[in-house]
Amino acid sequence: LTSTEESVLDEIEAKGVDFLRLQFTDILGTVKNVAVPARQAEKAFTEGIYFDGSSIEGFVRIQESDMRLVPDPETFAILPWRQDDESAAARMICDVYDTSTGEPFEGDPRYVLKQALERASEMGYEVNFAPEPEFFMFEEDEDGRATTETADHGGYFDLAPKDLASDVRRDIIYGLEDMGFEIEASHHEVAQGQYEINFEYDDALTTADNVGTFRTVVRAIAAQHDLHATFMPKPIPKINGSGMHTHMSLMEEGGENAFHDDDDEFNLSETAHAYLAGILEHAPAITAVANPTVNSYKRLVPGYEAPVYVAWSDRNRSALVRKPAARVPAASRIELRSPDPSCNPYLAFAVMIHAGLDGIEQGLEAPDPIRENIYDFDEDKREEYGIDTLPSNLGEAVDALEEDEAIYEALGEHVAPKFVEAKRQEFGEYLIDVSEWELDRYLETF
Ligand code: GLU
Ligand code: MG
Ligand code: MG
Repeated sequence: LTSTEESVLDEIEAKGVDFLRLQFTDILGTVKNVAVPARQAEKAFTEGIYFDGSSIEGFVRIQESDMRLVPDPETFAILPWRQDDESAAARMICDVYDTSTGEPFEGDPRYVLKQALERASEMGYEVNFAPEPEFFMFEEDEDGRATTETADHGGYFDLAPKDLASDVRRDIIYGLEDMGFEIEASHHEVAQGQYEINFEYDDALTTADNVGTFRTVVRAIAAQHDLHATFMPKPIPKINGSGMHTHMSLMEEGGENAFHDDDDEFNLSETAHAYLAGILEHAPAITAVANPTVNSYKRLVPGYEAPVYVAWSDRNRSALVRKPAARVPAASRIELRSPDPSCNPYLAFAVMIHAGLDGIEQGLEAPDPIRENIYDFDEDKREEYGIDTLPSNLGEAVDALEEDEAIYEALGEHVAPKFVEAKRQEFGEYLIDVSEWELDRYLETF
C-alpha cells in the first residue's frame, strides 16, 4: 500500500466509517455508486472491486460486462450528510478496469480525461481548470416533487434578508468544505432562485472529480431543506439559464503559467493565443459534449449572458471565450463560457484540452477580440467579422462532433460512437414530442 492508501485506512478506522461508496461516472456523467463495507478498503486498493458493468448505462456491451473498480485514495472524503455519532460513510472516486484485458477501460470518462492530460504532459504542460457552476433551487410540492417555483426573490448579489435561501447556501458551503473544497465565492445569480458557488482551481482531473461531487453535495443538502437544486441548463424560459463557465490555463514544468506574457496587449502568451484559437476552431464539436442535452440549446440564445457566437473578448460577456482580468501573472487564463452543468465534466474537459492543444500543435492564430456586444450584430456584420454561430440544437451539435475528427477521436473508440448514439436518440425523441408550447399555440387556432 502507498502512504496515501495507508492514511485512508487509518482515517476509516478513526472516524468509524462503516460503508464506502465507490464512485465512477457513466458516459452521460451520472455518478454511479457501488457500496462496500469499509473493511474491504484494503482489498479495493490492492485488487479492486469487481462489478457487473452491463447494468450501467452506456458503459459496456453485455458480453464484456465484467469491470473492476480501483479507488483513487486522493479522492477519499467523508460524506457530510450522514454523520451520526457512531458511524460515517465515505466515498472514493475510482478508475475502471476491464477484467478481460486488465487494462484501463476505454469507456471510463475519467480515463478519457487522463488521456487528454497525458497528451498535454507529453507537450510539457500541466492543465489547470476552474469551473463556475450555476444552479437553481426550487420549492418542492406536497408530494416532494420539484416545481419551478423559486424559494427567494433576490437579484444579483442581493443581500439577506431578501435572499431567503442563503441559509441553505451556507449549509451547502459547509458541506462542500467538509469534503475538502476551497470555496472562493458564492453569490446569488442574475435570475430569481439562481446561485453560483465558485471553488478554487485545480488540475483538470481533480476539478472534474470536484464537479461531480459538487453536484451531489448541492442536491443532497438542498433536499435536506426540502428544496430541489437543479443543474438543468434552462429551467425557465426568458430568464438567464445556468452555465458552467470554465477557466483554463496551462502550466509549464516548474510551475510557470504558460498562458502569461507581460508584453502582450492582453497579457496572453503565444501559447495561450494558439490554445484559444484551437478552442474557437473546434467550438461546434465541443458544444455537443459541453452542452449535451436538448435543453442546453435553450440557454445558448442571444440576450441572457450565454454565448451564441464563436468569438473571444477581453471585455464583454456575449463572447464564447473571455479573457478575465488577471491581477497576477499566475492568474492569466481564458474562460470558455459555453459549457453548462448538465455536461459530463470528464468528457467536456477532455475535448476542451484536445482542442486547445490542437491549436498549439497546429500553430493556429486567434482572431482579434470583439469588444462590442455581439448580440447586437446583424448577420452582415457577423459575416464582415467572420463570426460563426454555435450549433443551434443538439442535432446540429452532434453533426458537428461527427465531422470534427480531432474532437471525435478525443473521446476514444468506445465513448465516441456510444455518445453519438445516445444523443441522436435523445434528440430524435425530442423531435417527435408535442410540447406545451405547440398545444397553446395551435390546438385552438386550427
Ligand atoms: N447565467 C449566465 C450563463 O448562462 C452567466 C452569467 C454570468 O456571467 O455569470 O452562462
Ligand atoms: Mg455566473
Ligand atoms: Mg464567469
